[in-house]
Parts: sequence; structure tokens; C-alpha cells
Amino acid sequence: MAKPRRIVLKMSGEALASSASDETIDFAVVDRMAGEIAEARSDLNLELAIMVGGGNIWRGTTGVGAGMDRATSDTMGMLGTVINALALQDALEHSGQPTRVLTAVAMPEAAEPYIRRRAIRHLEKNRIVVFAAGMGNPYFTTDTSAALRAAEIEAELLCKGTHGGVDGVYSADPKVDPDATRFEEITFMEVVNKDLRVMDLTAITFCKDNGLPIQVFDLMKPGNLRRALAGEPIGTLVR
Ligand code: UDP
Repeated sequence: MAKPRRIVLKMSGEALASSASDETIDFAVVDRMAGEIAEARSDLNLELAIMVGGGNIWRGTTGVGAGMDRATSDTMGMLGTVINALALQDALEHSGQPTRVLTAVAMPEAAEPYIRRRAIRHLEKNRIVVFAAGMGNPYFTTDTSAALRAAEIEAELLCKGTHGGVDGVYSADPKVDPDATRFEEITFMEVVNKDLRVMDLTAITFCKDNGLPIQVFDLMKPGNLRRALAGEPIGTLVR
């Protein structure tokens, strides 16, 4: 694909945690990630916004499983993403990359409110924008929020970084089925019809309806992020 100019990167909260320790946020991991992001953004000269998840802190479904009210539990999840966004901002700025956190749940002491035109203005000024609190509504995920924001700011590509060791979209779960093969490219409809796990269905159908391609790749492997942001064939392209 042509080199994209404006990209939304979706990274899960767990990408900031540590497999080696019990840390909710491991600063060695965050620093390495931030360094890679900052370098790739400036070398490739692109406009980059990041939607960060909160699964390392709280997931709505965890509370629901314990009998909590869904909306309350989801709100806790959204607040978790704000913590991650601030950690990422700190690390990106230590890497010399000006960064703004825009939150969908208003908390002016912590971050700017999400305003679409403001997000675009920051990007035009070569600041990285970190979207916090998803889209601000319960019953949604940060995957769907990433797709929504990407459409709103007219991004050309949504990069979905994985962290669990699966480097793209497979015909079956590669951790269970040794015959599973990775698709280099796949259509939205195939993902839906084959019930392949890429992002949640709401995010996939939203991207389909809005013609927004998704590049799925392994975020944790050094060098991969840069290749994905450059629009190189890596992992699986869904379009
Ligand atoms: N969440 C929500 N609305 C949003 C985005 C997130 O309610 O617009 C909540 C939801 O409970 C979710 C949690 O925030 O489980 C953390 O986000 P997510 O699970 O997407 O994080 P990730 O798995 O990417 O780390």
C-alpha cells in the first residue's frame, strides 16, 4: 500500500505491562516502546495518534463477571486507559517527542478534552496524540474507539499492534492448531464470516463501512512498529 500519512495505532494496555514481573505498567517496556514510536514517527514524518487500551488495569467484563453493573465497570476500564495514556505521554516526551493526551471523559486537571479539530491540529504540528478513555461510552472497547477516532480524523490506516505472540490473522488459533496459516491480506467480510479474532466485530464492521484498512502486526517484536507505520506488508492487512 502507499505510504500512509496519518495513522492511528491501537495498542492494548497489556503491551505496557510486563511478562517478567507483576508490574501493571513496566517502565522498561514503556520506555522501549516510546523510543521506537518516537523514532519511527519522526523518521517516517507521519502524523500519529495512539489509542491505548486498559486491559492491564481493568476490563469491564471482569467486574460484570463479579456481579457489577456493566456501565460502572466499563467506566472503571475507561479510567484505566487514562493512567496508561499518561504513562505513555511521559515516556514519549522523555524520548523527545511532544505528546498530548486527549481524553473522552473530561478531567481537565489530567488531560485535554477530546475535540476532533484540536486532535488534528496537534497532529499537524507533529505532536503525537494519545487518545484516552476510549470513546467515553460504556459497552464499547478501545478497538472500536480506535476505529471511530481514525475515521473522525481521516486517518488512512489503523495499525492494530498485538502483544500475545500472534503476529497477524490466522485461519485458526495458531497456539492451538499447528496447521493454522497466516493471511497476508484478507477482506473484512472474510473476517466476519469466518469469525476470525482480529478486533471485536463492532470495530471490524465500522472499518468496513468506512473503508478504513487495518494492519495487524506483532507490536512486541523490535522493528515491527516502524515497518507497520511505513505501510510495509507485515502481519495481515484487512481491507
Ligand atoms: N471501555 C469502555 N468504552 C470505551 C473504551 C473502553 O467502556 O469506549 C472500557 C471497557 O470496559 C474495556 C476497558 O475500558 O474493557 C479497557 O479497554 P479495552 O478492553 O479495550 O483495553 P485493551 O484490551 O485494549 O487493553
